[in-house]
Amino acid sequence: MKVFFDMVGCRLNQAEIEKMGMEFRQGGHNIVANDTEADLVVVNTCSVTHQAASDSRQKIRRYAGNQNQQVIATGCWSTLEPTNARDLGQHVTVIHNQDKDHLVANFLRQQPEITSSHLFDQEPLERSSIAGLRQKTRSFIKVQDGCDNRCTFCVTTIARGRGISMDAKSIINEINAAYTAGSKEVVLTGVHLGSWGQDLAKPQHLANLLDMILSDTDVPRIRLSSLEPWDLNEQFFSRWSDPRLCRHLHLPLQSGSDATLRRMLRKTTRSSFRHLTEQARRYIPGLSITTDLITGFPAESEQEFFETLAFVQEMQFSGGHVFTYSERDGTPAARIRQSVPHPIRKQRNNQLQSVIRLSAENFKTSQIGQQAEVLWEASNVRTENGWLMSGLTSNYIRVFAHADQYLWNQIDPVQLSGLHVEGMLAEILVSNQKNQ
Ligand code: SF4
Repeated sequence: MKVFFDMVGCRLNQAEIEKMGMEFRQGGHNIVANDTEADLVVVNTCSVTHQAASDSRQKIRRYAGNQNQQVIATGCWSTLEPTNARDLGQHVTVIHNQDKDHLVANFLRQQPEITSSHLFDQEPLERSSIAGLRQKTRSFIKVQDGCDNRCTFCVTTIARGRGISMDAKSIINEINAAYTAGSKEVVLTGVHLGSWGQDLAKPQHLANLLDMILSDTDVPRIRLSSLEPWDLNEQFFSRWSDPRLCRHLHLPLQSGSDATLRRMLRKTTRSSFRHLTEQARRYIPGLSITTDLITGFPAESEQEFFETLAFVQEMQFSGGHVFTYSERDGTPAARIRQSVPHPIRKQRNNQLQSVIRLSAENFKTSQIGQQAEVLWEASNVRTENGWLMSGLTSNYIRVFAHADQYLWNQIDPVQLSGLHVEGMLAEILVSNQKNQ
């Protein structure tokens, strides 16, 4: 069977798709790059904003238009609106988020033409990896799902349910499989990544998982996706004495006003967030801190917005996403009456984006002349000076440099030499042949 994957949304959705792809391959099926060749299309949907929900609908509708294809809709939007998702086409099956981890096994078991020999064993990640399974520089590894917090704007908790941690052994196996298959970097993902371990019979902290990954895997780079600020502490940052941990933290702030943060039910304040970033920067030299912000949250006054603007300036983030608030059905925030007019939400978004752009620029400028290691990704640009390679530093700067050879999936030392519209320019110091 030929399977095509598509998705809307976050790194967690990406991690889930990668795992499903691996499981279909282990079952003897092919992942194709074009939906028109596929017998089955799996769409991992998202509902975090109106736009994400609308994109999810459109994708399912498009694939459902092909009568020869089965479509599986899973993820947050189809979990919240299963009937609407099913109504998009005759061959659409909806798989609830809670059943997503067994989606591939259950689907293959129901296929009459698939004999038992095509079914992979029930613990595919417990065994050694299949070479060539992931030909990627970077693999997304799901380590946690769901969330026990109740941020008032968040629809994700409704769609994903309570927090659940994946067990450490299977995470280690998955990382080792990704590394054996070629990935030089893994990105740990979860809805509430920082809560990893809290629900286990013997509760643990994400720092314990990092210790196990550092001791039981050899993958050169370990990156963390979004971390809620209230889950972190000094002991956690002390792990960064190991250079395999990427010097980048994505810490969603959402607002820089204590009053707005209280209405959002965020478990952080300006002062605790400031303290945390000071600690993190002390432990991790050259650290890049990025964030998420929401503008126009219900009842956000002009004064509150100015507080946010000033605080974001003070934090000197090296990048971030600014979301314009959109009401999501079923969330407490959608019931707050004092909504902010849409043009003001948008205008505030533009103002915050300008501040973030400036601090991102400052961060890059501070790195000129520094040495860094870059993991090169694909390039299809060849100039008279050689390949124009692009890749990421440990602290999440996109770097462009010319190379005589095609350096895909190598980690090489560079000297950062100047600014580029999408990142920074660099000179490669020595091509690291042993990475090839
Ligand atoms: S921490 Fe808040 S924003 Fe993040 S998933 Fe949980 S409830 Fe949603």
